[in-house]
Amino acid sequence: MTQIPTILQQLQGTSAYSTLVNIENAYRRIGEEQNIWYEKTHFLCPNGCGSCCMGFEPDLFEGEAMYMAAWLLENRYETAVKITHSEFPFNNGKKTCPLFDEDSAFHCSAYHGRPFVCRLFGASSFRGKNGGKLWRPCKFYPEEKLSAYKPPLEKRSYSESETINAIGAIPPLMCDLTENAFSADSTAQTTLLRRILPDMINKLLWLISMNDNDTPNGTPSSPIAA
Ligand code: SF4
Repeated sequence: MTQIPTILQQLQGTSAYSTLVNIENAYRRIGEEQNIWYEKTHFLCPNGCGSCCMGFEPDLFEGEAMYMAAWLLENRYETAVKITHSEFPFNNGKKTCPLFDEDSAFHCSAYHGRPFVCRLFGASSFRGKNGGKLWRPCKFYPEEKLSAYKPPLEKRSYSESETINAIGAIPPLMCDLTENAFSADSTAQTTLLRRILPDMINKLLWLISMNDNDTPNGTPSSPIAA
């Protein structure tokens, strides 16, 4: 089921529609493949951790920013409108993501709209120099949990066979999960979340108003209803 039904309906026939469907399909696949890995390994983030969001703000490709903008417009409309004026919901300083809610157990205030890096951190593998799969345990994973494995997880990275021996399965490959989503991204550039999101929300609002068939001659109508 889509997280952004109204936005998709309002953007039907535009290239933004295809981008959003493409990104959402990639996110869905990440979730499905990670669930298989979690079921086999039980290597879950500690409850309420959120350490990977602190001192970090994601750089976004255009498609990821568009999906996050669409998710906010659909699910947090008031917040999305404030972001168009660069008023983000949390003031965490310059280095920490302005969508990070320290007081919530779930931490991310745009969880279902979050970008690839936030979905893949600690729960994906990558190709090493020799082409084999490698996995790095999350650097924030508690020491006592890592040392409880037999043998203890003390290395910085593990080959596929080492990972399977240690925890039962290797997580999905990052490049497999992202390549389709980025193949249509013409810019192939990333921009810091707080810089790209205000413009992207405005862009979607404008596209939605221009795509409104009830508006004669393409005259922009008022923004979408909450
Ligand atoms: S988008 Fe969400 S998960 Fe990603 S860094 Fe910001 S608060 Fe954390």
